[in-house]
Order: sequence, then structure tokens, then C-alpha cells
Amino acid sequence: MPVPGASNRPAEDVSSAERPDVRGLSLDELAIAIIAAGQPPYRARQVMHWLHAKHAESFDAMHDLPADYRGWLAAHFTIGSLQTASVARSSDGTRKLLLRLRGGNAIETVIIPASGRVTLCLSTQAGCAMACEFCATARMGLHRNLTTAEIIGQIHAARRELAPGETLTNYVFMGMGEPLANYPRLVRALEIMTEAWGMDISTRRITVSTVGIVPMMERLLADVPVQLAVSLHATTDEMRDRLAPINKRYPLEVLLDACRKLPLARRRRITFEYVMLAGVNDTTADARRLVKLLAPLRAKVNLIFFNPFDGSGFGVSPRASIEAFQAILQAGNLTATIRESRGQDIAAACGQLFVACSEDHRENEPRRERTDLAG
Ligand code: SAH
Repeated sequence: MPVPGASNRPAEDVSSAERPDVRGLSLDELAIAIIAAGQPPYRARQVMHWLHAKHAESFDAMHDLPADYRGWLAAHFTIGSLQTASVARSSDGTRKLLLRLRGGNAIETVIIPASGRVTLCLSTQAGCAMACEFCATARMGLHRNLTTAEIIGQIHAARRELAPGETLTNYVFMGMGEPLANYPRLVRALEIMTEAWGMDISTRRITVSTVGIVPMMERLLADVPVQLAVSLHATTDEMRDRLAPINKRYPLEVLLDACRKLPLARRRRITFEYVMLAGVNDTTADARRLVKLLAPLRAKVNLIFFNPFDGSGFGVSPRASIEAFQAILQAGNLTATIRESRGQDIAAACGQLFVACSEDHRENEPRRERTDLAG
């Protein structure tokens, strides 16, 4: 019987909304569904292998599974909940994917090739609620959390855009959103990424970047020992309150004390990200304060060129100031690197990810989504 009001939508769309995306399930969750359906539990592992090691895009492709079982899977699950709406290519090889989510929102995912590695920059939310003053995504506000399947789906979408012979080697959660504000879904995605039954990616190759939601940082490293990056950006509470308002909840002392106590694995360090804003936080006094703040920690610092966008109100620190700042950190025995901006010509650089979402998200007006805020 036709569903009232749905006559102009394909039947598959209507029903797929109710079937979970199997890419977002853990092995245990799939096994429970499979056992409940009277199938042998080992089938769960077979499905996971097809999904995450062999990159199957359909249940039919899983040809060593019995046909009736494939039919059962297709009746209860979908594969893939993201559609690639467009791919922007930078002259430096960076590619930015605009991915459409069910329900009308969109997100961005960025492939960043650099010497010997290909890094994928993943989003965890459509928009962001953290309101950092210098970040374009913050201007969107928070639209919604991504599901685990949507987080994982970005990896599959990126793989489809890779050149022959190119493989993803590193994964950074530095795209849209605050990963630790979408904690349960993030952790399930990390489990799928790192477990042997899943993508089997080393935790050393995965970095979660946070604005500093202290209680969740502690939980994260206990749950999945990935690399942690903390967006610091300031050396006084007064300045950090302004640049990253979460500081009012977790001020510098609380944040850094928590960082000091984190159970870091051997030879691991916390990366502190510091975006260099001309005349705001890039002075030699800031550099000296940073040395003092980080001295008790196993830390390294990543100095980031500010990526400007319309109406940001901030200027880019000159390279000479950034190098002088770096020299002070190094003299203070801190490892400090400078992150060169990538993909700026396609607004794919840090803090430039922005999907213009007008009041809408109406399904029949997809062209209103644009990605052109930054310039
Ligand atoms: N919410 C997380 C992850 C997303 S931001 C976090 O705050 O860490 C990833 C990095 O890009 C952060 O260090 C962020 O501060 C930085 N960033 C944001 N806007 C930027 C901009 N306009 N230019 C350069 N870096 C920016």
C-alpha cells in the first residue's frame, strides 16, 4: 500500500530511512541482530570483513554469503548514508568533498596529500556549537550530530575519490564540529576504525582534536588510545575566554591540569594547536607564557597559519612573527612545528569549512547548499 504523501518518492527511500546503515554498527551490535534472526554468529564477522576490508558497496557483492542471508541483510540494513554532492580540487592536491546527509544537512571532508602520507580530515557534526571566534564553522551554529555511520561513511566517500595507488594513511578529526561533543558516536566510529574486525587502523594514525571538553578528554583516552590534539590558541584566560568561549567552563588551569594527568601511552605527547592571529596572540610575551604553561606536560605545539574568511575580523600573522614565536618555544625545549595551510584556494583549510545552510534543507532545493564562505 502506498504511504500517504510519499507517492513522489521512490519506495526505497521511504523504507531505507528506517533501516540502519550497517557501516555504523559494531561487531557486537550486528552479531546480536544476526543471532536474533537465527543465523550463525560468525556471519557478523564475514559481513564486517566485506564492509571494512573489502569495501563492499552492496550486500550482493558479498558473494560468499548465502543468497537468502544477503536478502535478509538487504531487508534489514542499508549500506552507505552519504552522497557525494561535489568535489573541489585545490592546486596543492587537496580535495574537499561536500557530502549530503539524510534529512538535508551537508558536511565537508578533506583529503590532504603530503609527502609520503595522505591525511583525511573528518567531520563529526553538521556545524558546531563551540562558537570559537576565528572559525568559520562556528558561524553555522550546530545543526546536528553525525551518526556513527555518517562519520565512517566519510572514509568510504574519500576512498572513492583516491587516485589509483593512493591510500589513506592518517585520520584527523579536525573537520566540522567538536568531536567530544558527539562522544558516543565518535567512540563507536573509532572502535570500527581501529578494531581488527573493522578497518584495523593503528591508533597512532588517528588524531582527535578538541577545543578542550575536559571530562570527555579523560574518557576518550581510556576508551580508545588515539592521539589527542588540544586547540589552545591563548596563554591567558582573558584571551582564551574570547577566542574559545568553552574556556569559561574549563579555564586554562583546569584544562592543562587535566592534560598533565591524562594516561598517555609511552612516547606519546599531546599536541597543542595554536592558531596565530596577528597582534592578538602572536607576541613574544605569549610565546614565553606558552613555554611556562606547557613545561610540566608531555607536549608539542603546532603553530597554525590563520586561514581568513569574510568577516572574521582577524589578520594573518606574518611568517617572521610565527618563526620568532617558534624559536622561543624551541629555546624553551618545546617541540614546535608550523602547519602550512593547505587547500586554501578551495576554502578547505582549517577553520574554513562552512556549508551555507539557509532556513531550508528542503529536499527539492539541494542547489542552495554552497561552500563559498571563505576566500
Ligand atoms: N572542534 C575541534 C576540531 C575542529 S577545528 C577543535 O577545536 O579542535 C580543527 C583546528 O582548526 C582547531 O585547532 C581549530 O582551532 C583550527 N581552526 C579553526 N578555525 C581556524 C582558522 N580560521 N584558521 C586556522 N585554523 C583554524
